[in-house]
Amino acid sequence: MPAHWGELTGKAFEGIKKDVAILPVGTVERHGNHLPLGTDYIIPEYLAARVAETLGEGAVIMPTIPYGVSTSLSHLPGTIDVGYDAFMAYVEAVLKEVARNGFRAALVINGHGGNTKALHIVAKRVAFETGMKVGVVDWWADVAQEVRERLFTAPGHAGEDETAAVLAIRPDLVDMGSAEEGPSYTKVRVRFYDREATKELFAKGVTGDPRRADAERGREFLDAVVKEIVEGVREALTR
Ligand SMILES: [Zn+2]
Repeated sequence: MPAHWGELTGKAFEGIKKDVAILPVGTVERHGNHLPLGTDYIIPEYLAARVAETLGEGAVIMPTIPYGVSTSLSHLPGTIDVGYDAFMAYVEAVLKEVARNGFRAALVINGHGGNTKALHIVAKRVAFETGMKVGVVDWWADVAQEVRERLFTAPGHAGEDETAAVLAIRPDLVDMGSAEEGPSYTKVRVRFYDREATKELFAKGVTGDPRRADAERGREFLDAVVKEIVEGVREALTR
């Protein structure tokens, strides 16, 4: 059984090997009408447990940070957007405490695209200020991308890939009868932040097509994600 930071006694904590603390980070945000509002922390929590289990001794699962930067979907009911300043300050403080507690490395498993830029700024800052290695991985975008492309034709926010992942982890929280297709992202060469266009894109909080999702492909994708995250952590720890 992997160690959970919040479930260890102080005495047990003092005695364990401290290679990598794994921090699941997400947001509370609308994911169409079919996925739970906690989708973006439910998936990282699951991945953190599996990654820690595979790594074995020296890996510690941290209590989750569930609130994040949800600017793009802040117009929809159910979303909680804490904004960049609060989010960055909070994550930075938590990671610095991980360093003070003597870990060689921390890994943030991120479940939400709106957090990504902030997490990378904070991770680099903490790494350079403390000397602890700090990793950030967007589970759906940074690892197992060949598998993702092979398995899913309509991925997206609350789309086929994310819906498949929740179907694999917590099918009891998914209402497939309410799944609706959303628009797909169009790639642009010059990125403009555009409030009205964003509201239009996320009118229902869905991009891609969740109706095509199933648990089996969700499991296959998640297995590949776990494998590649573990490889990345092992590589970092050998340096
Ligand atoms: Zn999501």
